[in-house]
Amino acid sequence: MKRVLKSKLLILCALALLSAGCSEVAISGRKQFNFVPGSTMNSMSFKSYGEFLTQHKLSTNAEQTQMVKRVGGKIQKAVEEYCAANGIEDRLAGYEWEFNLVEDPNVNAWCMPGGKVVVYTGILQIAQGEAGLAVVMGHEIAHAFAKHGAERMSQGLLVQMGGIALSTALEDYPDQTKNLFLQSYGVGTQVGVLLRYSRVHENEADHLGLVFMAMAGYNPEEAPVFWERMAAQKKGAQPPEFLSTHPADETRIQNLKDLVPEAMEYYRKR
Ligand SMILES: [Zn+2]
Repeated sequence: MKRVLKSKLLILCALALLSAGCSEVAISGRKQFNFVPGSTMNSMSFKSYGEFLTQHKLSTNAEQTQMVKRVGGKIQKAVEEYCAANGIEDRLAGYEWEFNLVEDPNVNAWCMPGGKVVVYTGILQIAQGEAGLAVVMGHEIAHAFAKHGAERMSQGLLVQMGGIALSTALEDYPDQTKNLFLQSYGVGTQVGVLLRYSRVHENEADHLGLVFMAMAGYNPEEAPVFWERMAAQKKGAQPPEFLSTHPADETRIQNLKDLVPEAMEYYRKR
């Protein structure tokens, strides 16, 4: 029985690979496997994002809200310019960018597919200003740009749901599929299990985020400094939610320091 299941899974994997093929992530050049359609991911995202906003209070601090929208807008522009310059505008097909600050003491931020960003007021004390915020938002936007959620969704559909198509999963198992989607973004679910981004995805989001923040006019040298502040939060009684999906350690900080010179090239070009 087990063997049958295993070979069935292998066949499904092979079929999925054949039908969807692999795409390449810009800047990092990594090949990725993703068989879920961007349009379906976006429509799930826009629905979940709308629901999240109705259940959470937007910040009433106009200055901080403007800062989030300003930093997000600059990074959006950098991503769009990068795509236009490299002829990969289709990567952003169907994106409807939005940047909101919610009143929530949790240290967290995320970006759903299609450019839907939420920053929690709790992370602002660690960001300590616009450049620190650009580190967070650049990183989160990079996850969305690189379609890491769709990759995780593809893996989840294969492993947890036997490789069925996303449209079928949505129709036959709507709650389970929605939870899988939310888990893919660290948004939090009723199940309460957040998937950690893999080291590969984290490194890639750090790399791309650094380039995008630099293109947007923020000094990339701020990134390792921000992550050092974030790592220090681990020692608190309750480690931030952001750290459960984004482990901050010495390896990460060293990797970022190694990536700064490349990003500085973009920063100086501006
Ligand atoms: Zn991340």
